[in-house]
Amino acid sequence: MSPVIEDLKIEEDDVLAEAVRTIDAAYVMHTYARLPIVFTKGAGQWLWDTSGRKYLDFLGGIAVNGVGHCHHKVVAAIQKQAAELIHTSNLYYTDPQAQLARKLCTTSDFEKVFFCNSGAEANEAALKIARKHGRSIRSTKTNFVTAYRSFHGRTMATVTATAQPKYQQPFRPLIPGFQYVDLNDVDALRHAVTENTCAVMLEPIQGEGGVYAAEPGFLHSAREICDENGALLIFDEVQTGMGRTGALWAYQGYGVVPDILTTAKALGGGFPIGACLARGAAGETFVPGDHGSTFAGNPLAASAALAVFDALESEDLIKNAAEIGAYFKEELQSKLAGRIIEVRGKGLIIGVQLSEPIAKLVLVESMERGLILNAIGDSTLRFLPPLLITKDNVDFAVSILEEVIT
Ligand code: PLP
Repeated sequence: MSPVIEDLKIEEDDVLAEAVRTIDAAYVMHTYARLPIVFTKGAGQWLWDTSGRKYLDFLGGIAVNGVGHCHHKVVAAIQKQAAELIHTSNLYYTDPQAQLARKLCTTSDFEKVFFCNSGAEANEAALKIARKHGRSIRSTKTNFVTAYRSFHGRTMATVTATAQPKYQQPFRPLIPGFQYVDLNDVDALRHAVTENTCAVMLEPIQGEGGVYAAEPGFLHSAREICDENGALLIFDEVQTGMGRTGALWAYQGYGVVPDILTTAKALGGGFPIGACLARGAAGETFVPGDHGSTFAGNPLAASAALAVFDALESEDLIKNAAEIGAYFKEELQSKLAGRIIEVRGKGLIIGVQLSEPIAKLVLVESMERGLILNAIGDSTLRFLPPLLITKDNVDFAVSILEEVIT
């Protein structure tokens, strides 16, 4: 291609990007502080923008693209299912939904699944199960305990569970019956949970809050405290699930089994689907009419999720997440030593606490060099790359961070 034509193409594509930004500004509600890039293509761990620039994606659609962008198995499953049957409603059975429910239960300790379309809805279902279960024991057993710095979603109940003032303040009054404790403070949890607590809800690793992991002892104590008080233990694995921490579910790495587990994000490989998994009495609490969702677990969404499981298993991606995650952490610790306070996380959910409040600057400078990452607050970087990344990808990312942070 001659330089003139190439230049022209870039100019045309920039016009496209500008047009997209203008239309968005005019017609889309301003709920996101968007970066100016317009992406047009993705494959594996790579993204391309309108000018054909290639980026290494170490954010993975905020933990959604676990098996990478446009994985061939997910694409083929969606194409095949879309041509056969997209949606029927939950008044009927479909094979992909039944198969996916079985897959979720046989790869975990859970017995029953409620399907939905997002993480917030999965948590909303979990909270409703816990309230109904609690009320079946005693009419006052309706209170929840969650952790400060948590993130559970944007519906009224999940925003109430999300113990961060910035998400709650504009929407007060909140849902009654929620109490908060610091993550890893066993005494505070013991004090907060009473016979009127119906559930404790925790993220095994707080993602949006800055990548803070629960200590194993805290989760074991949470299990004990819930059992002593007849409360359900809910783990929100919307961000940590589907192999991200180096185990299919983070609870499996901790050896603490909750009564309810919620998932979404990576479950559909980019196709919206969520699920609330439950065992024992929690799995039997909902009866017809208690809860529902029109789109939930439709054949198209369920087929995409089955293909994600297939890709995780056939390519050993969970093992890769554990190994590459450990390598990435070591490299960050050694190459950025002196410029960072700490590296947190497990597998491929990693947070870097910078010594200075320059996270936004690092994000922009990295993006200009072809690396996509995420900033939380002023001084935390977060990485949630596809689980298929390689050592070369890590080396490339760390070299950019070294250059930018130095
Ligand atoms: N729970 C956790 C742990 C999350 O990280 C998120 C989203 O970031 C949610 C729930 C909400 O998920 P969604 O945005 O799909 O409603």
